[in-house]
Amino acid sequence: MNKGQLMMFEKPGVPMQQVAIQLPVPGPGEILVRNKFATICGSDLHTYCGTRKEQLPTVLGHEIVGEIAAFGPDCLLKDQKGTDLFVGDRVTWSIFSSDPGSYYALQGMPQKGEGLFKYGHALFTESDAFHGGFSEYCLLKQGTAVLKIPDTLPLSVAATLNCAIATVAGEFG
Ligand SMILES: [Zn+2]
Repeated sequence: MNKGQLMMFEKPGVPMQQVAIQLPVPGPGEILVRNKFATICGSDLHTYCGTRKEQLPTVLGHEIVGEIAAFGPDCLLKDQKGTDLFVGDRVTWSIFSSDPGSYYALQGMPQKGEGLFKYGHALFTESDAFHGGFSEYCLLKQGTAVLKIPDTLPLSVAATLNCAIATVAGEFG
């Protein structure tokens, strides 16, 4: 398979470095997405400036819109609302994945579920590199809430759904 480009963030004060990494083959329940747009969130800035501690190096960006490039085996092929998913569909997704069968997930708080993984906040390694927005691709892990979005919704608006808008809805909902 081809390689994908991404911007690796090593540490504050060092410019991000563009690197080409072998694209992963999606595993069971995983979806490979070709990123179309990503915003810069406040937490990205905090990490970039060194006021937020992350595992480094990493690939920043977690407000992301992309197109489905490939499904792994045993994918549900439906989004969070039950809409059928196809290769080429425009999607956004939750900023985290977790075990949907774990205690807190079953209590309606999957963001506290077991096996919590956060996009744009994870350790970059050669074998696990595509998990941020500042990248050509993102590999969606099992337990990620995927939402199909209409092509008529501007990318810059759609990208804010999964952090900025979700945070506001959570604070005031
Ligand atoms: Zn954010």
